[in-house]
Amino acid sequence: MRNVEAVSLDVTGTLVDGRSVKRFWDHLIPAVYASENGISFNEAYTRVKKKYSTVSRDDVRWYLPEYWVKELNISISLEKLLEEFRHGIAFFPDVAPTITRLSSQYVLIVSSNLPSVLLQTILEDVKEHFSRVFSSVSTYCLPYKTAEFYAKACSETGFHPEEFLHVGDSKTYDFLVPRIIGMRSMLVKRYINPKQHYEVDSLDKIFSNVA
Ligand SMILES: [Mg+2]
Repeated sequence: MRNVEAVSLDVTGTLVDGRSVKRFWDHLIPAVYASENGISFNEAYTRVKKKYSTVSRDDVRWYLPEYWVKELNISISLEKLLEEFRHGIAFFPDVAPTITRLSSQYVLIVSSNLPSVLLQTILEDVKEHFSRVFSSVSTYCLPYKTAEFYAKACSETGFHPEEFLHVGDSKTYDFLVPRIIGMRSMLVKRYINPKQHYEVDSLDKIFSNVA
C-alpha cells in the first residue's frame, strides 16, 4: 500500500457544526424574506421551505444560494447575506490545530458538496492551509460526492487515489464512496463513541492512521 501523501476533508459536520450551515437556509434566508415582504418569520419560513421543495436534491440548483436569492426575489445582496452567515459559523475546536499540523505534513484539500460561495465564506480564515477546494456542486455540477467527483479531484490534485485519505462524517459519501476508487477513508463521529478502527471522534485522532 502506498503512503498517504494527501488528505481530503469534508466540511459540514467535519470542520464546522452542521447547524451553523443549516442556519443559512433555515434562518437567514427566511428572515430576509420576512422583512422584505412584511410578513412574520414563521410565515416566511413556511413559504421559503415550500419553495425549496419545488427543486429536487438531485438538481444542483437546490444547493445554490444565488439561485434561491433570485427565485425568492430577495433584494439584499448575496454578499450581505454571506457576511451575516460568516459570523455564525461554528468550527469544531479540534479543527484549527489539526489542519495546521496536517497542512505542514500533507497536501490538504477540501471535498464538499457545499456550493463554492458558501465554502469560500466558511473557509475564509483557514484557506491558506488548503491547496485546493473542490465543490461537487460548483466544480463539477454534481449534487453529491460520487466516485466520479473523487476521481476528478484526485486527478486534478495529481495524486493516485491510494495516496489520498479522505475524512468526513457521512458513511456513504465520505467513507464508502471514496473507497470505490481506491482512496483511503475515515469516518468522523463527533457525537457517538467510535466503535470501528476507521472511526474517530475528533480530527486529531486521524494522525495515527496516516503514519
Ligand atoms: Mg459532512
